[in-house]
Amino acid sequence: MSAVPLKTLDTARPQSQRSVTVLGATGSIGDSTMDLLRRGGERFRVEAVTAHSNVEALAKLAREFNVGFAAVADEARLDALREALAGTGIACGAGEAAVIEAAARPADWVMAAVSGAAGLKPALAAVDRGATVALANKECLVCAGEFFMTRAVKTGARILPADSEHNALFQALSSGNREELVRVIITASGGPFRTWTAEAIEQASLEQALKHPNWSMGQKITIDSASMMNKGLEVIEAAHLFGLTADEIDVLVHPQSIVHGMVEFSDRSVVAQLGAPDMRIPIAHCLGWPDRLPGPAARLDLAAIGQLTFEVPDLKRFPGLGLAYEALRTGGGAPTVFNAANEIAVAAFVARKIRFGMIARLVEATIEAALRDVAAAAPASADEAIAVDHVARKLAASLLPQIAAKAS
Ligand code: NAD
Ligand code: MG
Repeated sequence: MSAVPLKTLDTARPQSQRSVTVLGATGSIGDSTMDLLRRGGERFRVEAVTAHSNVEALAKLAREFNVGFAAVADEARLDALREALAGTGIACGAGEAAVIEAAARPADWVMAAVSGAAGLKPALAAVDRGATVALANKECLVCAGEFFMTRAVKTGARILPADSEHNALFQALSSGNREELVRVIITASGGPFRTWTAEAIEQASLEQALKHPNWSMGQKITIDSASMMNKGLEVIEAAHLFGLTADEIDVLVHPQSIVHGMVEFSDRSVVAQLGAPDMRIPIAHCLGWPDRLPGPAARLDLAAIGQLTFEVPDLKRFPGLGLAYEALRTGGGAPTVFNAANEIAVAAFVARKIRFGMIARLVEATIEAALRDVAAAAPASADEAIAVDHVARKLAASLLPQIAAKAS
């Protein structure tokens, strides 16, 4: 029988064991990654794992995978970590430097899954030694995207998008050339407040914001999904990952979270990636790349789902998304400020210091003030990015009382 030839696996390529490091191993993405590594058995060897302060969970993973090195970011937890690893021969350290050291150790593949801009320097340490970096930590690209991607080109580091929408785009983009690309579309679930009025969203409680309809994720990204700031961060992330302009990136609200990303080409073909809302799908794609790993996620049963629906996002009720586009168009330090202000705003909301609706207002006010005072140029180094990030955090914190007072 003659058939159109399909691409076949390169069986000549040696299937040697891959060494991996997981930054943020105790988080939601870390958990999914460790699950895949557990299932992968001998195919993977874990070089290092890191966590913020949960020494018990970190030590458990370190022992299970018999890692070379475990790092906890919270310096005060060093003794506890040493104690928890006593007798194992596993080396350990504490503080930011130890997390960076974990990333710098020789592993072929690194999962960057720290939450927030705190993940920037560790991710860069992996980039600097030319590793393959599966990037979940979108904030580090929003904070210092231009610098980060330029550095990756210089060192030969391969950045694989682990964020589901960007992983979808990565898969779809391979069916055409840059010149043929018209636009990319990333989808958003719309979060728990998709159908709520602006007044109800303004007053939403922490418990309501933490109830994501489709995905189970860390606290910060769950709040970001409720405000659609997450989609804003992802628009900026997509711009840096794939070298796109703001006009080439569209967002569609898709409550079923089955289609994750689409690419429209000049012949009007739209190529999409679909899958159950399970982060183990994009992570497995990164872990197996350039091949595919058999994955544990549920198979997609479209007949059971029945309907896939799409809506244009409402920027009035979800102003964070519009602010992200503005920051991307403004360029320079604006996305860095956008990210830092959002981290402060989310922390203030979680601490019940501000109402949900104030998150976007604080971000907007901080960008306005920052653009008058600091950083017109895009950060040209990690230190510059962190410096702008710190100024923006301080600015946001100083504006907080007045934003809170104005709206009450
Ligand atoms: P999480 O809060 O569940 O986990 C964060 C991990 O980072 C934990 O291991 C924590 O100990 C560690 N960490 C936190 N602060 C740290 C610090 N200052 N220094 C060192 N380590 C620190 O978060 P998550 O949901 O796993 O998300 C991680 C990243 O992946 C975020 O950037 C998020 O936007 C992105 N992401 C997550 C999902 C998801 O489904 N959870 C999907 C796409 C992208
Ligand atoms: Mg995403």
